Amino acid sequence: MPLAQTATTVPVTVDQALCIADKGCTVCVDVCPLDVLRIAETDAGKTAYMKYDECWYCMPCEADCPTGAVTVNLPYLLK
Ligand code: SF4
Ligand code: SF4
Repeated sequence: MPLAQTATTVPVTVDQALCIADKGCTVCVDVCPLDVLRIAETDAGKTAYMKYDECWYCMPCEADCPTGAVTVNLPYLLK
């Protein structure tokens, strides 16, 4: 399943156990200025994920997620 592979290679990952996209949440998708996050349907329900590997590391997706499911993995040079 591409989702698992993608989650380890893109800068923004979502903890599927915490994501409540199933309940209608689309906060991270809505706040991303680059529009690179999407909601995916999986066997376990809906979950957000990074569809396009582009990121400004502006952080609202992580900051605004109501459940803390989003992790933005900052590149070493930005830390
Ligand atoms: S903001 Fe958090 S809970 Fe909502 S869809 Fe995004 S990852 Fe899931
Ligand atoms: S850090 Fe910014 S650009 Fe990157 S996914 Fe989150 S909201 Fe989008």
